[in-house]
Amino acid sequence: MRKKILAANWKMNLTHTEAEAYFVTFLSEIGQVNDLEVVIIPPFTAISALVTASEKIPAIRIGAQNMHWEKSGAFTGEVSAAMLRAHYVKYVLVGHSERRMMFGETDEIVNRKVGAALHAGLRPILCLGETLQERDGGRVEEVLRRQLGKGLEGLAPRDLPEIVIAYEPCWAIGTGRSATPAEAEQSHALIRAILSELFGKPTADRVRIQYGGSVRPENAEDLMRQKNIDGALVGGASLDPRSFARIIWRTEAALT
Ligand code: PEP
Repeated sequence: MRKKILAANWKMNLTHTEAEAYFVTFLSEIGQVNDLEVVIIPPFTAISALVTASEKIPAIRIGAQNMHWEKSGAFTGEVSAAMLRAHYVKYVLVGHSERRMMFGETDEIVNRKVGAALHAGLRPILCLGETLQERDGGRVEEVLRRQLGKGLEGLAPRDLPEIVIAYEPCWAIGTGRSATPAEAEQSHALIRAILSELFGKPTADRVRIQYGGSVRPENAEDLMRQKNIDGALVGGASLDPRSFARIIWRTEAALT
C-alpha cells in the first residue's frame, strides 16, 4: 500500500514571516492528518522557520525546491544536499519543468542531483512530463522513457522507494488546464510500466507517483481516486492555506 503524498511547491513566493502566518492558518484548517504525508516546499529562506513550526507534527515534512549535486565549492548561489539535511529537510524537488526550461537543467544534471540527494539522505521528488508540442506530436512515451531512463541512470532497485516521481505535463502547470483523471492515469500507468522494465515490478509497485498540473480542491478527489496516482504536487493552489487544506481533505475523501 503506497501512502499518498501531497506536496506544496510555493516556488518564489512568501517570506519567512508570511510562511509562519500561512502555517498557523494551515494547521487550524487541516486538523488531524493520519493516512497521508504532507510536504511543504518553500523557498530556501523560509525552510528554517517552517521546520521549527512543524517540528511536532509527524505528518508534515519540509522540502526544498532545488540543490546542487556537488558537496561544496565555488558554486555561487547554490546550496548542497548536506546543507539541506542540516536543516532537517527531507525532500527536494529535482528537475521541475521551470528549472529545465528556464535554468537549462538537462537529464544529466537531473541525474546527478538525484544521486547526490540520495547519497545525502534526502528524498528526491523527480519531476518529469511532456510539453504540449510533444503530446500533440504523439511523443509522450518517448519523452517519459528518456526522462526516467536518464534521470534514474545508475540507481539500484533499493534506491527507488526513496524516490517520488512527479508527473507534471508542462501544458498543465500554472495554466488552469489540468490533465483529466483518465489522461493522468494513462501516463502514470505508463511511468509505472517503464519503472517495472527498468527495476522490476515489485520495486515499481512501491514507487509513489504524484500528479502535478493545476490541481485544485475541485479536481483533486477524482485525480486521487486513480489507481496509479499516489498524490499531488501542487503549485498555485498551495499558496492559499485554505485551498491546500481542502485539497488534503479531498485526498482523504478519495481514500475511503
Ligand atoms: C508546479 O509548479 O509544480 C505545479 C504543479 O503548479 P500548478 O499547480 O500551479 O499548476
